[in-house]
Amino acid sequence: MQNDNADADDTEQQIAPSDSLGQAVSRGLRLCCPLCGRGELFAALFRMHERCSHCGYRFERSPGYFLGSTYINYGVTTLTATWSWILLRFVMGIDRQILIPALATFCLIFPVVFFRYARSLWLSFDTFFDRQGAMEHREHDKDFN
Ligand SMILES: [Zn+2]
Repeated sequence: MQNDNADADDTEQQIAPSDSLGQAVSRGLRLCCPLCGRGELFAALFRMHERCSHCGYRFERSPGYFLGSTYINYGVTTLTATWSWILLRFVMGIDRQILIPALATFCLIFPVVFFRYARSLWLSFDTFFDRQGAMEHREHDKDFN
């Protein structure tokens, strides 16, 4: 009986926003719940769970919530393409007639591949930088379940 209480306390202590930015990034890149680090974010390739299966944290708060993830996706795509251009063109000397179609293709495909990670990072950063809001949101959701 006492072990059950210890497990419950242990589980409750783990349900908290990340302690460090590194942990927030790690939870974001592992596509798991930013609050407990256990539940999976995605039910299918592009479809998210409404809530965490482990702690019940709601992932999408309002329509348009994940609009900010497009900034992450766009930023990572453009930075990667720009640095690839500089490295491949000026350091390795690859011809621009090869580079332009290759990087254009990259710029079309990469954002689709990175979509899940951009959303997950956006949610993880929001939960990390607005810790109080995330916990209040979770408490508010508990009352209406
Ligand atoms: Zn969770």
